Parts: sequence; C-alpha cells; structure tokens
Amino acid sequence: MSMKITDECTACGLCLEECPTESITEGDIYVIDPDTCNECEEEDEQQCVAVCPIVDDDDVCIAIVKREE
Ligand code: SF4
Ligand code: SF4
Repeated sequence: MSMKITDECTACGLCLEECPTESITEGDIYVIDPDTCNECEEEDEQQCVAVCPIVDDDDVCIAIVKREE
C-alpha cells in the first residue's frame, strides 16, 4: 500500500526531505512513487503526512491520502 498526493498540494516542499524511502518528487503538485512508498511501515507515523500543512478542520491531512488500489 502507498500514499498519494492530491490536487490540494501547494508544493510547499516540506514533505520532500522527510520521506525515509525517498519516494517523493518535486513538481507543480508533488508526486509519491507508489512502487517505493511503504506508508512508513517502520515509523510511528507517516512522515510526509506529519509535516504537511494542508489539513481540514479536524486536522486531517487532505493533500496526502491513501492510494486506492
Ligand atoms: S508515507 Fe512515508 S514512505 Fe510513503 S511517501 Fe510518505 S514519507 Fe515516504
Ligand atoms: S507537504 Fe503537503 S503541501 Fe507541501 S509539498 Fe508535500 S504534499 Fe504538498
């Protein structure tokens, strides 16, 4: 399973350096490589989601979501 970045991404760049598997690529909207993203299975939380500032009223990230297979 992997995460994906949605149209809500503002290309702030905060997630780029945080990814332990180097799965994130810069762009107008950043992109997560589904082949290498492992949802941070060895971390306490998904590092990209933890730093992404684009959240809803409930503080849930809306720019990085689970990829539907
Ligand atoms: S969930 Fe983890 S492995 Fe996947 S893109 Fe985000 S930081 Fe990288
Ligand atoms: S931290 Fe969020 S808004 Fe910033 S580049 Fe990554 S996905 Fe986009």
